[in-house]
Amino acid sequence: MIITVASGNLHKVEEMNGINPFKDIVLKKIDGDFNPVEDGETFEENAIIKAKEASSIVKDYALADDTGLCVDALDGAPGLHTARYAPTQDEKIKKLLAALEGVPFEKRTARFICNMVLTDKNGNVVHKTVGKIEGYIAEKAAGCGGFGYDPIFYVKEYGMTLAELPDGEKNKISHRFNALLPMLEFISSEEFVSYQNEH
Ligand code: IMP
Repeated sequence: MIITVASGNLHKVEEMNGINPFKDIVLKKIDGDFNPVEDGETFEENAIIKAKEASSIVKDYALADDTGLCVDALDGAPGLHTARYAPTQDEKIKKLLAALEGVPFEKRTARFICNMVLTDKNGNVVHKTVGKIEGYIAEKAAGCGGFGYDPIFYVKEYGMTLAELPDGEKNKISHRFNALLPMLEFISSEEFVSYQNEH
């Protein structure tokens, strides 16, 4: 089965394919640019906006992932504004490090939250999952793996940032892994076969 991924971000889709252990499910990035207005009030609402938009384009099932970085010392910011925190990724990282200037390591706790939503060809929400990873915002960027804020997201258990982890390691522990695996289990389930037969 081919499921369209409602994202213009190739890194994200590659990561999802790296996580996917189901050989009979293919996750395919939607063709061309994909930038729907993400004006939801929660990560879940934004994931629904993206999934519905993609379903309406491909007239088929679509899977969306909306991810936010929530930093405790900043009352959960950048949160919903994670993607729009600054114009470029380098600037986003600089802005976040500046906002945390002088905050000691043990108070730099943060988490990535990933909401996934599967919609059908009519835009109905079929299934939703959430995944998280807990960590700390490092004092400076390190590593060149992954994407986005990975160079400043420090994972204590590994003693390094997500961007410094060896190849494939992020995909075993990430917020995206924790959301995608149960989503793919649902897509492989009898429950989803019944849903498809009924719709
Ligand atoms: P969105 O989920 O595509 O809207 O991404 C929101 C923001 O979070 C963007 O700035 C992404 O670069 C960033 N982001 C999403 N997923 C990850 C991740 O796995 N690691 C680091 N940054 C991420």
